[in-house]
Amino acid sequence: MTRQFQHVIDGQSIAPDSGEWIDSVNPATGEVWARFARGNASDVAAAVAAAVTACGRPDWRDDSANRSAVLHAIADLLDQGFEQLIEVEVNDNGKRIREVRGQFAGLGGWYRHFAVALADLQVEALSLDQPGVSARLELMPYGVVGAITAWNSPLMIAAWKVAPALAGGNAVIIKPSEMASASTVMFAELLAPVVPKGLINVITGYGHEAGAAIVAADDVRKVTFTGSEIGGSKVAATAAEHVKPATLELGGKSPQIVFADADLENTVNGVLSGIFLSNGQSCVAGSRLIIQEPIRDLFLQRLQERVASLRFGDPLRDDTDIGPIANKPQFDKVLAMLDRAKQAGAKVFAGGHAVKVEGFENGYFIAPTILEAVATDSEIWQQEVFGPVLCVRSFATADEAIRLANDSNYGLAAGVWSGDADFASSVASRIDAGTVYINHYRSVSACAPVGGIKKSGYGRELGPNAIRDFMQEKAVWHGTAPLPNPFQR
Ligand code: NDP
Repeated sequence: MTRQFQHVIDGQSIAPDSGEWIDSVNPATGEVWARFARGNASDVAAAVAAAVTACGRPDWRDDSANRSAVLHAIADLLDQGFEQLIEVEVNDNGKRIREVRGQFAGLGGWYRHFAVALADLQVEALSLDQPGVSARLELMPYGVVGAITAWNSPLMIAAWKVAPALAGGNAVIIKPSEMASASTVMFAELLAPVVPKGLINVITGYGHEAGAAIVAADDVRKVTFTGSEIGGSKVAATAAEHVKPATLELGGKSPQIVFADADLENTVNGVLSGIFLSNGQSCVAGSRLIIQEPIRDLFLQRLQERVASLRFGDPLRDDTDIGPIANKPQFDKVLAMLDRAKQAGAKVFAGGHAVKVEGFENGYFIAPTILEAVATDSEIWQQEVFGPVLCVRSFATADEAIRLANDSNYGLAAGVWSGDADFASSVASRIDAGTVYINHYRSVSACAPVGGIKKSGYGRELGPNAIRDFMQEKAVWHGTAPLPNPFQR
């Protein structure tokens, strides 16, 4: 039976004003399993009104102890774990249940971190360079924040936005991807008992309708966006038109630089997890392998052996290694990019094709793919695939490796693998990326900022400034000496 997911506005489940719905297809089966409300400007206006009221309440805006208590309550509720939420996510975007379980087990932790961190939001005295005055620095919430998220990890991406935004005294309107909205709707419904009404609203629908209406709404004072370069650029343009800040977390083409002295097995594990663990559908996917010549053949052989042993199948099963690509447009996009790469001269070392899986013949499966002889100016080397495609080039010297790594319009993440920690550290300092991992890959922490440079976006999430990024500074001046008559002759 097709399940139905409505908006969540002011703590209530609300049908779309349009009366229209968007089908969601289970990527493992190719069948419609759910439908989402098709949000429009009228739905957005209702959510904005609820959010304005909610974040204007003094017991929210001015009471950080209450905000902390609400965030702790959200964390406690999420820690209970919700098996039905996990299954819904797997049906929606095809992520393997083991990964979803791991991600959801950590959800409470993001909210708890910010429940504690907001204690650091102290009013600061400013030391001024003038006599007769003193001043202090206060932080004010923006008010209503629009949070637009991608389909690959909807609830984790939302947590990175919602938790610090609430900690800072804002209310949020989340617009999940129309490809995977179910978990975000359920999340808001499950939290209703512990979250004051109107603080977390969810409007589902298309980006160009519901998403654009959120960004354009006057009372939405800040936008935080995770998604593609194209979507981000549209959001930034609309935000600029309406004079509001936007944080953009966009795509990447992250390099993995492997030096000949790297620990072979450890590095194989890191490179595999970087690109194939989520079918490459991760913003930090390590999609460009830049490997030192002496170990190239051995390393590729080890990668190929490991890839050949992976099991395709039902993403709901714990023993599945490779599930489907998250949706049909993405499946088609990856295969089309592979075709063009082959035509451009890339050699297929592994994979390179769609896969039929028994019992899931209509699913969107693609074999983990390794491509060699990839030209540095080719589409497949330069553009984000957001799929299970690893492109390989070899190098002789560190300078050459760094040049290859930095020759990209993106700059989200990178990996450096070497047995010499000091040397690897010096290489990491020369990489243009928001995050560089040394002999490690993919970890995230609420304590470390996440974000990109160049076309990977601007602004940061998480890290020490995460809550302040959802607040504005206010200088409050006090006169401490009598003022002279300004017109005294
Ligand atoms: P999209 O840019 O297509 O969509 C992202 C979100 O933006 C969706 O909710 C989408 O809605 C919405 N949207 C699209 N156009 C507009 C618009 N004009 N106004 C407002 N909202 C809009 O990205 P994908 O969902 O395809 O996600 C994949 C991308 O996300 C990849 O590039 C990936 O690298 C990036 N990503 C980045 C991360 C990071 O932290 N840097 C983390 C995860 C993913 P709808 O889908 O309903 O149209």
